[in-house]
Amino acid sequence: MDLVEIFPHLHLLRFEVGQAYLWSEADSLTLIDSGPAGSAPAIAEAVRALGRRPGDLQRIVLTHGHEDHIGGAAEAAGWGGARILAGSADAAAIRGETPLPPPVFTADWERELRASIPPLPQVPPLRVDVELGEGDTVDFGGGAQVLSVPGHTPGSIALYLPGPRVLFTGDTISNVRDRTMLGVFNADPVQAAESLHRQAELPVGTACFGHGEPIAEGAAERLRRLLPAV
Ligand SMILES: [Zn+2]
Repeated sequence: MDLVEIFPHLHLLRFEVGQAYLWSEADSLTLIDSGPAGSAPAIAEAVRALGRRPGDLQRIVLTHGHEDHIGGAAEAAGWGGARILAGSADAAAIRGETPLPPPVFTADWERELRASIPPLPQVPPLRVDVELGEGDTVDFGGGAQVLSVPGHTPGSIALYLPGPRVLFTGDTISNVRDRTMLGVFNADPVQAAESLHRQAELPVGTACFGHGEPIAEGAAERLRRLLPAV
């Protein structure tokens, strides 16, 4: 596990597969996504490396219901009673009640990429304490605005912090190998593109993606290049 400081309040946790973010303030500690099943010990190690206790974790916000984002949440929520928050349209899938719709592949390379990914360990039973939707606010970073950004999954959410101008995109946008692009494996590619465009219009300073390197500064300029030409 790599722990990378983006700035003092914000760290990237990079697992063997997938990644997550920790937002730490004096009086609260928030985890955004939780890696695949088995990631909790690495999350605890990261929390300790920041001088905090795993039991200090107050909330876990899941950007969507895919297994490489939700797998560590159940164990991490058990350390000290952290609440688990997720987009309402993915909540039933996260609870294991219904499957998420499968991806609609738009190119052969995307299908081949999916086929090359080994299966992940099974996600342990997981609850959702708070179902989030458009316009909700989560109490960290001065008030994180919840944006409903469906397409990758029906209940995908992004979090935007207007004060520090930080955006967490989940898998709606990726930045792997320095290529900022629409995330892959979308259940509804048309809707996913619309959700990307909405985020690309925000005055984002720091962009944190579900896969790939964060952009620490000036992210809006990179994101605006993804807008269709008019
Ligand atoms: Zn995903």
